[in-house]
Amino acid sequence: MVEMILQVEQFFLDLFFPRRCVVCRNSGAWLCVDCSKKQSERFLFEPIGSEVYGLFAHEDSAARELLYGLKYGGLYESAEVLMDVLHLACSAEDLLRALQCSKDPVVVPVPVSYSRLKSRGYNQAELLARVFARWAGLPMNTQILHRRAGKTLVGQGRRLRQRAAQTAFYIGDDYVVEKNSEYILIDDVVTTGSTLKTCRKILLDAGAARVVGVAFAYKHRFGG
Ligand SMILES: [Zn+2]
Repeated sequence: MVEMILQVEQFFLDLFFPRRCVVCRNSGAWLCVDCSKKQSERFLFEPIGSEVYGLFAHEDSAARELLYGLKYGGLYESAEVLMDVLHLACSAEDLLRALQCSKDPVVVPVPVSYSRLKSRGYNQAELLARVFARWAGLPMNTQILHRRAGKTLVGQGRRLRQRAAQTAFYIGDDYVVEKNSEYILIDDVVTTGSTLKTCRKILLDAGAARVVGVAFAYKHRFGG
């Protein structure tokens, strides 16, 4: 039902706001063939910490614009476009091998709080996780990790963000993390990666065998 509403909404958006490449503004697609290719060549796969990786630099205009559209502009197709770019950069098998996934990992999006979900209507990390899971042929679970509502951490110092993040996430009451389970956590944009690192620790503490964090974009030129 939700997908149908999104499709109808997209139809009217296409009608009144034709798609233009977010980089070169050529009409026809959110990212044209040339810009997709250029962006795919900027595939980073950069380690941000222990078993946490950034796929693209956030400063690259295509990744930045698509993720901004996904987060604030209701540009749901950005997730699909980013996956197309990722697919140009590498195969799902190669990425899973690079992540050293041994079993069939479960894809888990970094959650947003219920109040955030209600005000925005969707979780951008979940939209990315959904297309990522489909691309990689892996199951996705949105019931494992939850997030408490809290103050926004944007602009706060690193230590304050880390402390707040530790109490913000929890495992769902009706979910048991199995001992030999393996997870891939998905987030959209990270700076220090502290959210992914915290979520990773929570799953490991709950008994997961292995957890890797993957952020689509890494703001590696900025601290905070
Ligand atoms: Zn273009």
